[in-house]
Amino acid sequence: MIALSTLIAELERDHPDITFQSSDVAHWSPSERTIYYDHSPTNTIHELGHALLGHNSFVQDAELIRIERDAWEKAREIAKKYQVAVSDNSIESAMDNYREWLHRRSLCPTCSQVGIQSVKDLSYSCVNCGTKWQANDARSCGLKRSIIKH
Ligand SMILES: [Zn+2]
Ligand SMILES: [Zn+2]
Repeated sequence: MIALSTLIAELERDHPDITFQSSDVAHWSPSERTIYYDHSPTNTIHELGHALLGHNSFVQDAELIRIERDAWEKAREIAKKYQVAVSDNSIESAMDNYREWLHRRSLCPTCSQVGIQSVKDLSYSCVNCGTKWQANDARSCGLKRSIIKH
């Protein structure tokens, strides 16, 4: 597998319109046009998939699953060029973690029922107890749900 520093140098050369910045959590920031990369070339290529597909961060959970899948498919394409391994297993385990993460943040912080997500502001509400909450989108730094209204 290619060394991370070599990969980043090649990506910076091939994509001068994108900023690459090291971070604890790999993610793509559409507003900054910046790829934050962690230790993993595979994750870095996945984030490039998001960038090249023009993914925006403000979407509903149902759409996020599709977007993640698309970014992995794109990553598989890009990976060949940079000699980065993107295996079916790593994709499936990333998708499993992702679904699990989405499920946890959709749970009502008061009564643990699955909430309904608003199309307008992406907040959740519970039909069981009426709690409204919002979830952060930092995937790997732990789930935070903040209650808007009980
Ligand atoms: Zn992703
Ligand atoms: Zn509830």
